[in-house]
Amino acid sequence: MKCPVCQKEMVAENFGGVNIDVCKAGCKGLWFDWMELAKLDEKNEGLGAALQEALSYERANDENRSQVKCPKCSLPMHVHKYESAKEVNIDECYQYGGFFLDSGELKIIRENFMDEAERDAYTQKLLDSSAEFKNEQVNLEKEKSRTEAVRNFTKFLRVSYYITGK
Ligand SMILES: [Zn+2]
Ligand SMILES: [Zn+2]
Repeated sequence: MKCPVCQKEMVAENFGGVNIDVCKAGCKGLWFDWMELAKLDEKNEGLGAALQEALSYERANDENRSQVKCPKCSLPMHVHKYESAKEVNIDECYQYGGFFLDSGELKIIRENFMDEAERDAYTQKLLDSSAEFKNEQVNLEKEKSRTEAVRNFTKFLRVSYYITGK
């Protein structure tokens, strides 16, 4: 299978019972078939030299690289944050649930792994901050209409001033 980013041939390696495709000759990216990443996204999961080597790769994520195509089904992959680890963008094939991780991202995911309670807290935090943002928007709207009302009222006053001729 060819690496979706640099097109080098990927090599299957044993990460402790899970076979992961590694772009050894190229960008050091990793390919996880459906459900494989869930078996390796926590610090204590997986074992072996191949996994240790993958964890030693430097982070090399080019945020600006264009959308890549799934190495399995060729559909464009979707970039989004990994659910169990904030701040890590991963590429996912929605068709079969495969993931591509750039060099160094597996290490970051494992170090930032959040359990369900932590994940809920994090989601709540995001929701709260967006609620605050919405409140600010509402206040801004109110402020705007108040200003407009005052302006209209002033206009009315001026008009009536002219009409009465005083
Ligand atoms: Zn590659
Ligand atoms: Zn695919």
